[in-house]
Amino acid sequence: MTDTVGTPRSAAADPARRSDGRRLASAGEAVGDTFQRMDLAQHEQVVFCRDAASGLRAIIAIHNTTLGPAVGGTRMWPYASEEEALIDVLRLSEGMTYKAAVTGLNLGGGKAVIIGDPKRDKSEALLRAHGRFVDSLGGRYVTAEDVGITVQDMEYVYMETPFVTGVASAPGGGGDPSPVTAFGVYHGIKAAAKKVWGSPDLAGRSVAIQGVGSVGGHLAQNLAAEGVRLHVSDIDPARVQRVVQETGATAVAPEEIFGLDVDVFAPCALGAILNDRTIPQLRCRIVAGGANNQLAEHRHGDELMRRGILYAPDFVINAGGLINVYSELQGYDPVAARNRARGIYDTLLAIFERAEADGIPTYQAAERLAEARILEVSRAGRIYTPRHRRPPARFARL
Ligand code: NAD
Repeated sequence: MTDTVGTPRSAAADPARRSDGRRLASAGEAVGDTFQRMDLAQHEQVVFCRDAASGLRAIIAIHNTTLGPAVGGTRMWPYASEEEALIDVLRLSEGMTYKAAVTGLNLGGGKAVIIGDPKRDKSEALLRAHGRFVDSLGGRYVTAEDVGITVQDMEYVYMETPFVTGVASAPGGGGDPSPVTAFGVYHGIKAAAKKVWGSPDLAGRSVAIQGVGSVGGHLAQNLAAEGVRLHVSDIDPARVQRVVQETGATAVAPEEIFGLDVDVFAPCALGAILNDRTIPQLRCRIVAGGANNQLAEHRHGDELMRRGILYAPDFVINAGGLINVYSELQGYDPVAARNRARGIYDTLLAIFERAEADGIPTYQAAERLAEARILEVSRAGRIYTPRHRRPPARFARL
């Protein structure tokens, strides 16, 4: 096995082990006990949290902290089993490591899941108990909102720990990150246009957006302002109606969105949306949208390449939300956050060039760049400085 910079290595010793892509991306791959699962993608730490009084059952996974504290949201979902929850948190935390690394942020990857139905089981006590467990990690893990957890919920978590982002009331809190996510996706679409048509100009181009919630809705506004012809679908008719009124978009039934004759397909709803059923329907030249985990399996990224469809890897193009969070940790500056999200344009262009040069799918090129950065930074970390590493005790008196 060789690593991303061509050096033979031992998988177990390496902080950025895989050049064959994220091992847990296909959840079915993970088998065995918890340590075996952690070995697969080299997770550092998994914490099981239980509070009988509030009914909290949560798992916090820290994948890799080479670049900085592990950051990633808390998801609340009625998982059918503990195993399902564990696989999800391992997979999601691994993805956060890659997203931060490829975006050039000094953050590691982490995630938390709470097992339960957010509509039924969520309470102040449960969220505050979760906050206490996050706090117990002393800043190794910093949490935020995710599916099933709102900005208001985070206020309760924040009552128990400062290691929270996305809290509107916190000093320097950034609140809802979705406008910055959408802004980054918009610039990512422009990068893909530059690669395919030689110009980032989108005026007169057509884009089909699947899902016009927080990210998709803001994306529609960005694109409409540049004169893009929009087609939008959502399972919530009220959301479609709102975007049609605001942007003049054409409404499309959810199942028809894949087969439209458009320039760009922008998935902004669910994961695993690029699969054996949907890819044959696509007639676009570019897939670039904000949804997480768009490829049902890695091979679907290969299939897009085979069909000549340029795919903007999800964890690169949707990093605007994480950039917003990073900005909070630095002292929130909304203008700086948007400027940094604009940089997704250059990151994606570099990935497209690397993929073409190496003859590999874009998702692989992105993963290699992320792994290379983690490896190179970890090597620099071997250099001793008094600030970065505590001196051995016998030097303390010098
Ligand atoms: P959201 O819940 O506000 O919006 C999702 C929308 O998709 C909803 O309107 C929903 O009705 C719609 N939808 C669900 N199934 C659909 C289907 N089959 N067809 C059409 N529409 C459907 O969520 P969001 O915050 O906008 O996030 C959207 C995606 O972007 C998610 O995958 C999320 O993980 C990802 N993401 C979000 C952020 C962020 O800042 N919010 C950051 C990074 C990634």
